[in-house]
Amino acid sequence: MAALTLPVLFICLATLFSLSLQSQEQEDTPITRFQQYLKINTAHPNPNYTTPISFLLSQANSIGLQSQILEFAPSKPVLLLTWPGSNPSLPSILFNSHLDSVPAEPSKWVNPPFSATRTSDGKIFARGAQDDKCIGMQYLEAIRNLKAKNVNLLRTVHISYVPDEEIGGFEGCALFVKSKEFKDLNLGFVLDEGQASTGDEFRVFYADRTPWGLIIKSTGAPGHGSKMYDNGAMENLMKSVEVIGRFRESQFDIVKAGEAANSEVISANPVYLKAGIPSSDGFVMNMQPSEAEAGFDLRLPPTADPDLIRKRIAEEWAPARRNMTFQIIEKGPIRDLMGHPLMTLTNASNPWWTVFNQAIEAAGGKLAKPEILASTTDARYIRQLGIPALGFSPMTNTPILLHDHNEFLKDTVYLRGIEVYEYVISSLASFDGESH
Ligand SMILES: [Zn+2]
Repeated sequence: MAALTLPVLFICLATLFSLSLQSQEQEDTPITRFQQYLKINTAHPNPNYTTPISFLLSQANSIGLQSQILEFAPSKPVLLLTWPGSNPSLPSILFNSHLDSVPAEPSKWVNPPFSATRTSDGKIFARGAQDDKCIGMQYLEAIRNLKAKNVNLLRTVHISYVPDEEIGGFEGCALFVKSKEFKDLNLGFVLDEGQASTGDEFRVFYADRTPWGLIIKSTGAPGHGSKMYDNGAMENLMKSVEVIGRFRESQFDIVKAGEAANSEVISANPVYLKAGIPSSDGFVMNMQPSEAEAGFDLRLPPTADPDLIRKRIAEEWAPARRNMTFQIIEKGPIRDLMGHPLMTLTNASNPWWTVFNQAIEAAGGKLAKPEILASTTDARYIRQLGIPALGFSPMTNTPILLHDHNEFLKDTVYLRGIEVYEYVISSLASFDGESH
């Protein structure tokens, strides 16, 4: 073989050097694996579900988990991973997370939202860092560690990755929970996403509020702008807006007085007004219109009585005697299939609660007072079946940045979360008491 000339040798050395740099960058650690997952753009309106599923599958294979890809709506895959327990006849445990995320406006971010940039102080910036790609990877990392310690579990553990949570989950978890595959899991208890805590205690959620869209419409005789008469469409609508406004105030006063959390009252916020007769330069000013409409976003805690709210709307907010009609768009269940409020008990009567609480303590953590989530998660579909489900994302001393610009999670908080799940997974899946 001919001796290498100097330039060729130089190129070889340069290639070797760049290869070693690359391998440093691609070092395989819990943090780099988290970054890899964060770099996959799964933001709406066109979330990519193929790439994250193949990434998660390769992770699952590397730790020896069983896997299934299910599809209940076209191009809306659900990834289900399974770690069989030694007694598969016992009810199993499910750890759920969603694949999608809300969009991000890159111009408002210091670091690009899908770069998963880790700054010198350990902050990992990415859309989805808190909501909820952290838990999706932490479940896997915790199982990886438990398996490395040769831990064997009594109950079977499943992890599910579902699509479309951020747009209501109607073609995601809502269909998954109705499937035979879901029923066959024979679930005893489910953990789903929660939210960051700004203090030292972990937050835990036992219910979501149910969203209702309320549209009220009024009709009335049209008339000249100069005329005073009763029962005009605008006048009737404005009366309703006032009545609903007073109800809103009464609920908000309870919150302001510190008697309830925001998520424990019924919120009714105006979101649109539609009225007036368009003209070439705005609206016709000397005419009172014959139709008017307003929209409200209502959120009902599980303790609210939906029949009472419907009655109130019919009698006070949009009464037929004032020529008003209304439409309620229910965006999810408010009662479970047995007719009970959609909430998971957080007292000794729920053995899963006790085991979960003890696991957090064993991990050296503490749970804050259980809360109702102000918005919604897929857990509502699981609670609807009467299966206990808690919302939990182990992030303490972290600003709440879900859906916000510059969403980040600190590396130390992420790693601590893995440790917490090791306790949680092994405790729940070792529980040998009566659960149903
Ligand atoms: Zn989420």
